[in-house]
Amino acid sequence: MGKNYKEDCIFCKIIKGEIPSKTVYEDDDFKAILDISPAAIGHVIILPKNHAADIYEISDEDAGKILVVAKKIATAIKSYLGCDGVNILQNNGEAAGQTVFHLHVHVIPRYNDDDVNIGWNHKQDVDFDKVCEDLQQALQS
Ligand code: AMP
Ligand code: ZN
Repeated sequence: MGKNYKEDCIFCKIIKGEIPSKTVYEDDDFKAILDISPAAIGHVIILPKNHAADIYEISDEDAGKILVVAKKIATAIKSYLGCDGVNILQNNGEAAGQTVFHLHVHVIPRYNDDDVNIGWNHKQDVDFDKVCEDLQQALQS
């Protein structure tokens, strides 16, 4: 099946095999590779073969399928590495830490008391009623 590649996209080049990668899994729609700068041993990123910059661009079909691939890889990572947990992470926009603008899902093995930091401070005094109403409206329009 023909795929939708973007010129000068590093992950499109990896998908086409023009840049080498350590591929752990591949099917018609996705390539999963070892992250070159991993948070933990066995850190995998899943790349859709159709170029989409971020979650706003990805097709509903690829969006649905990618979590199934993440499940497959997380299950393998847990059983073969014997890790205590797994984070599934996906960044959109520089503000959210995205550095490569071809959507990808991180699968990160976690261990009790490891040194991986994925966290946030919790907001106080939130007007949950207003936030909920605003978001409900945004989702209807
Ligand atoms: P993000 O910050 O969510 O955009 O993640 C981009 C990820 O891609 C980082 O974890 C990088 O280490 C990883 N990365 C960048 N270039 C390569 C590459 N050539 N092969 C494998 N992983 C890469
Ligand atoms: Zn791309």
